[in-house]
Amino acid sequence: MKVLKFGGTSVANANNIELVKNIVKNSKNKTAVVVSAFGGVTDLLLNAAELASTHNKEYKNVFLKIEERHISTIKELIPVSNQSKVLSKVKSELNILETLLEGAFFIGEITPKLSDKIVSYGELLSSYIISEYFIAEGLNASYKDSRELLKTNTNYGKAAIYNFEETNSLIQNYFNNNNNQITVLGGFIASSIKGDSTTLGRGGSDYTAAIIAAAVDAKSLEIWTDVSGMYTANPKLVKQAKAIENISYQEAMELSHFGAKVLYPPTIQPVLSKGIPIAIKNTFNPDAIGTTITKNLDKNGKTVRGISHIENISLISLEGSGMVGIPGISKRFFEVLSLAQISIVLITQASSEHSICVAIDANDVALAEEAINNEFEYEISLKKIKPVLVENDLAIIALVGDSMKNHQGLSGKMFSTLGKNNVNIRVIAQGSSERNISAVIDKADVKKALNSLHEKFFEENIKQLNLFIMGVGNVGSKLLHQIKQQKKYLKENLKLNVRVIGISNSRTMFFDEDGISLKNWESLLSKGEKANKEQFFSKVNSLNYRNSIFVDNTASEVVSNTYADYLSNSISVVTCNKIACSSVYTNYSRLKYLAQKYNAPFLFETNVGAGLPIIDTLKHLIASGDKILKIQAVLSGSLNFVFNNFSNKTTFHDIVKQAQEEGYTEPDPKIDLSGIDVARKILILARESGYKLDIDEITNKSFLPEESLQTTNNNDFFASLIKFEPSFQEMYTEAANKDAKLKYVAQFEDGKASVGLQHIPKGHDFYNLEGSDNIVLFFTERYPNQPLIIKGAGAGADVTASGIFADIIRIGNF
Ligand code: ADP
Ligand code: ASP
Ligand code: MG
Repeated sequence: MKVLKFGGTSVANANNIELVKNIVKNSKNKTAVVVSAFGGVTDLLLNAAELASTHNKEYKNVFLKIEERHISTIKELIPVSNQSKVLSKVKSELNILETLLEGAFFIGEITPKLSDKIVSYGELLSSYIISEYFIAEGLNASYKDSRELLKTNTNYGKAAIYNFEETNSLIQNYFNNNNNQITVLGGFIASSIKGDSTTLGRGGSDYTAAIIAAAVDAKSLEIWTDVSGMYTANPKLVKQAKAIENISYQEAMELSHFGAKVLYPPTIQPVLSKGIPIAIKNTFNPDAIGTTITKNLDKNGKTVRGISHIENISLISLEGSGMVGIPGISKRFFEVLSLAQISIVLITQASSEHSICVAIDANDVALAEEAINNEFEYEISLKKIKPVLVENDLAIIALVGDSMKNHQGLSGKMFSTLGKNNVNIRVIAQGSSERNISAVIDKADVKKALNSLHEKFFEENIKQLNLFIMGVGNVGSKLLHQIKQQKKYLKENLKLNVRVIGISNSRTMFFDEDGISLKNWESLLSKGEKANKEQFFSKVNSLNYRNSIFVDNTASEVVSNTYADYLSNSISVVTCNKIACSSVYTNYSRLKYLAQKYNAPFLFETNVGAGLPIIDTLKHLIASGDKILKIQAVLSGSLNFVFNNFSNKTTFHDIVKQAQEEGYTEPDPKIDLSGIDVARKILILARESGYKLDIDEITNKSFLPEESLQTTNNNDFFASLIKFEPSFQEMYTEAANKDAKLKYVAQFEDGKASVGLQHIPKGHDFYNLEGSDNIVLFFTERYPNQPLIIKGAGAGADVTASGIFADIIRIGNF
């Protein structure tokens, strides 16, 4: 015989029930089909009962919804000719249900016994309707009320089998004495010795199926659900999770105890002693292999088999000097919790005996607090013990695996991964079976913790980088294009999975938690919500993804003012925006400090020389013990472009215009022409060389007339260039007469920096600088006479984007 159990989603509607029929019909053996209530109906029933018992008439609407779900399913499933019998039976059951709810409404109260009676209608109706559908479809099927087979105690809501011998023999007798190939039964429901309806606990249909399987010595127990097996982590939270093909009973039990809802924890016990294998299969993808749970350990399997978690956990701790060395305190503590029927998920006791701390379900907190404070009232009044300390909004996350005990370093790996991702650990516990290492963490960190641990233990070192990009103009759009092109390469060769989760321009912002499609990001963004920098940050922060990187491609000061928020929340920042690093020294150094403190890289390679590896080289020189003595550089691709193209055959105005149009200048070209941009760059290099310098300490001899410097918008600025053309021509002639070229040079030496236009003679390193190229000469202790030279294209959207991309990859390798 075989036992097949179909969960709520599998029987949620007529279409799904048809899939169930197709699976059942292929079964060659005698088969018990255990079904849950139609998906969501148990919740509706509980909700109706709760409303009714609080005198809320709204319960009637919930009842109507329940009624409608069943009636419409019958009408869709069962041919008209057979409908009337089924409809009248179901309607009469629904009438009783309505009367029960009415009763609760008038009394204004609900007992656990009545609640179970009400809730049992979910499985009663689903199993009856499905059996009638099978019969109508020509299957050799019959219906059996499981309350007649499973006998429990009266612990309503979570009843336990009262006497297995009796229940087993009822089940055996029933199946031995009927010849139907298929029997459909409701899961979850049972009855007390007196005959009242009871239920086995939420998710308990799995347990019903296991009890039947064990009683009849079934060949196998198949749990059909909405996922393709037991996964390495909850697939709803961890996209990369994979179904585990084989797993031992103990491991499966441990995973389900720690939150893997796919299997109700008590399910394993009855089949384990009989060695009946459990298969977990997907109703919506029956060909998927699924998971087989057996006695046998997969010896070649991974040490960590799965990661599970329980949300809604609270910690309660008892502390005080009066606890030290006094026997019996823990006994009383645990006894009081047990009397209050509070189950403990995890325990830790400090070795000093100064405190006991347990994790419990958040719903039990009030009860636990009161019970313990009452028990220790006397000690508390003497101040020997402090009143119970409660911490809420927590979760437990657990690594599970049979062979974890034979391996060292797993907990180290677990906790360093959590630490690196800034997940704060409140409590650690290792099961004595050594099959489980658990930690209590903040509820808000669950998704991040699960994904980081999953990445570490299951994903062959593929590291996910989650990007949040602000600014998708010239540079930003090139960056998105480059990411799209390189995605596959990075995954295959560098084991980096780069995903863009959020983008924003000044008008709109758009997020996709699964990664934005880089093929049509423009149209997605244009339909996004209204842009808002604070909300952008809040969203990034609340998503709380591991390896989150904020990328700033704007030139906005307001955006640069948000970096501290990101860094303080362990979100890395990559920026081509120079404002932050060239702002007051205290701001720059604070950002560097936050980056270090919160383990979140702050990279700005493109602040100087676009994609050229200038800052990175500088960092390596310093890290390896070198000292910067002098820096000489042409750092403005824009000014270089301008002075390379400007001559007595053109006008200064036209060349600057061309530079702006070709993307060689900042959006406001005066920032380049005034020398401010170059001053900012040498300032950043000086700071990165270890000098404490501010922008007003940099000598800046501007070549622009004062009137041009005073303009406040681009139009006025360009107009002033036309006006002063003669003075620009004079500048040109003066240099040309000396056979020299005009270059805007930045210099740093002896702690002092200056920028300004210089005549560069033939033969100088700077003389042959083409187009928008940059050049930097580092004179250091190791390169005192012949400087280390970095030269190449130092402006342009493409190279800037590639510089940002390189910073992102640096973080990936961090
Ligand atoms: P059913 O109604 O079929 O009994 P459940 O909702 O009780 O289904 O259980 C299936 C769900 O369990 C999945 O949809 C998934 O969200 C959740 N789940 C949690 N952890 C795991 C895991 N490790 N593997 C598979 N599913 C899991
Ligand atoms: N219908 C019950 C519940 O929702 C039992 C089950 O589905 O296993 O909890
Ligand atoms: Mg379930």
